[in-house]
Amino acid sequence: MKIEKDCVVELDYKLMDLEEQTWESSDEGGPWVYLHGHGELMPALEKVLIGKGIGQKLKLELQPEEAYGQYEDDLCTQVPREAFAEVKNLTEGMRLAAEGQDGVHAVTVKSITDESVTIDANHPLAGQAVKVEVKVLSVREASEEEISHGHVHQHGSCSHNH
Ligand SMILES: [Zn+2]
Repeated sequence: MKIEKDCVVELDYKLMDLEEQTWESSDEGGPWVYLHGHGELMPALEKVLIGKGIGQKLKLELQPEEAYGQYEDDLCTQVPREAFAEVKNLTEGMRLAAEGQDGVHAVTVKSITDESVTIDANHPLAGQAVKVEVKVLSVREASEEEISHGHVHQHGSCSHNH
């Protein structure tokens, strides 16, 4: 079957920057399994997948606004140096988990002075064009329950709280 709205699609993927350095791939985290047409995937990628079938490969370049958004200076915050007293070997470029009002976010240490540390909550690929390579592994019709929930139920059950 071909990919259309309300299909469950499984993809091998590789996410790269323009220098083709791999940031993330299904080799590490396993394939992407998503419900097509419900905004789970980047819209530009979803669009080119329509009508594709098992075994087909695609490679595309996404502009920042189609991928991780523009870089936002507002997402950089200065925090007193003492707040990082327990972090060993604090270095610029280090990725940390920071607790915010709406949960835990991955942040990057942007700069360090004796008094303060600037952390950056932008996605590391924000403001950058990226390359995505995907291969369609499987396509199936979603169940009515999956469609009404708007996500895939792997192994036949809903693992989410509704
Ligand atoms: Zn569900």
